[in-house]
Amino acid sequence: MGRVSLFCLPLYEIRVIFGFINDKGMDYKIPQEEWPECLECGKEIRYGRPDKKFCSEDCKNKYHNNKHKYSRNLHYRVLNGIERNYEILNRLYRSHVESIDIGDLLALGFRLEYSTGYRKSHRHDEFHCFEFKYYITRNRLFGLQKVEPLLDPSI
Ligand SMILES: [Zn+2]
Repeated sequence: MGRVSLFCLPLYEIRVIFGFINDKGMDYKIPQEEWPECLECGKEIRYGRPDKKFCSEDCKNKYHNNKHKYSRNLHYRVLNGIERNYEILNRLYRSHVESIDIGDLLALGFRLEYSTGYRKSHRHDEFHCFEFKYYITRNRLFGLQKVEPLLDPSI
């Protein structure tokens, strides 16, 4: 390379000159303004590829374990919620209650967001919880009855 003004060089060559990139084009120092932050601990990552997400193997493992823990917890929460809703619906059904105030329902521990099926039926919001079918309005659960589950039980 002859005498070339730095300002004429492409960014890549400037980075080579300043030692940001080694001859293999990897594991270089990242220019300060581009330091990414570790997704786990938030520390600045000053070495490695610019798309590096973690400062260490430790942080990488921690991050992925927590992510899985979160989705496992969510999984159990939803399954438990559906199970509890089912028990409440079953109790109501056996007591011949087919309509109940939403406030009373929530006080029993029912969670409106957990169901095994939903469809719009005659402008009503029809929900299923396994073999139970019910409608939800702003104030009431009504029309509680046992039906064939929406899912084909033969599959
Ligand atoms: Zn970290």
